[in-house]
Amino acid sequence: MATLEIHDLHVSVEAEGGPTEILRGVDLTVKQGETHAIMGPNGSGKSTLAYSLAGHPKYTVTGGTVTLDGEDVLEMSVDERARAGLFLAMQYPVEVPGVSVSNFLRTSATAIRGEAPKLRTWVKEVKEAMARLEMDPSFAERNVNEGFSGGEKKRHEILQLELLKPRMAILDETDSGLDIDALRVVSEGVNRVRETGESGTLLITHYTRILRYIKPDHVHVFARGRIVASGGPELAEDLEANGYEQYTKGGAAS
Ligand code: ADP
Ligand code: MG
Ligand code: MG
Repeated sequence: MATLEIHDLHVSVEAEGGPTEILRGVDLTVKQGETHAIMGPNGSGKSTLAYSLAGHPKYTVTGGTVTLDGEDVLEMSVDERARAGLFLAMQYPVEVPGVSVSNFLRTSATAIRGEAPKLRTWVKEVKEAMARLEMDPSFAERNVNEGFSGGEKKRHEILQLELLKPRMAILDETDSGLDIDALRVVSEGVNRVRETGESGTLLITHYTRILRYIKPDHVHVFARGRIVASGGPELAEDLEANGYEQYTKGGAAS
């Protein structure tokens, strides 16, 4: 069973005045089949956590451990992380000139599965996944992220999620910038992946609204670089009613 274990993670970024510690001891365990939501105010370090798990070179791990099924994730290259089954929605945020969505997906699937998916079944798989996400078939021929709208980027993320079937999916602000229809479609995609029971999901968000569509098993409040409270879905309701202030008092939020 896939288990992501983060223990006492400390991460710094290079800022103007020298290295600044952003993550200050994150502890979190996500198991296959579970959905965890991380919620916190802007600037609390949520994206830093996601980027650090993705292996982004700007973020320096200064302490702690991250393992996937006991394997040291921090030792892995970005590609190795993907092959190990970690999916990070922000892993490919940039435009990939001259690479179509269709080729990109097949190349990714080949890298992760260790062999190229059979063309005929693959084409069908992609078509069906795109239809479920209410995407126009012509989208497959567009270049990755080139001129994608916010909604198209998010749909493309979920399309990858559905096709690549990762063991552990980390979704950062998947809900930001989505209109209500796109939010529903994207949430349904996340829920489909979840219902397979084969992935663990870490949903990072600032807003509670996506949690009306995706019901997390566990909710964590993130403030000033660490998890400061954990609970069930009722914690999200409490945040919706009372905000983050109760967790950020006594220091700057960012
Ligand atoms: P969140 O996603 O919770 O809004 P971030 O992880 O984006 O928070 O940012 C946390 C803090 O780290 C902020 O103060 C931000 O300015 C700082 N930070 C994040 N990434 C960088 C970076 N690459 N360079 C400098 N500062 C950064
Ligand atoms: Mg932010
Ligand atoms: Mg963020």
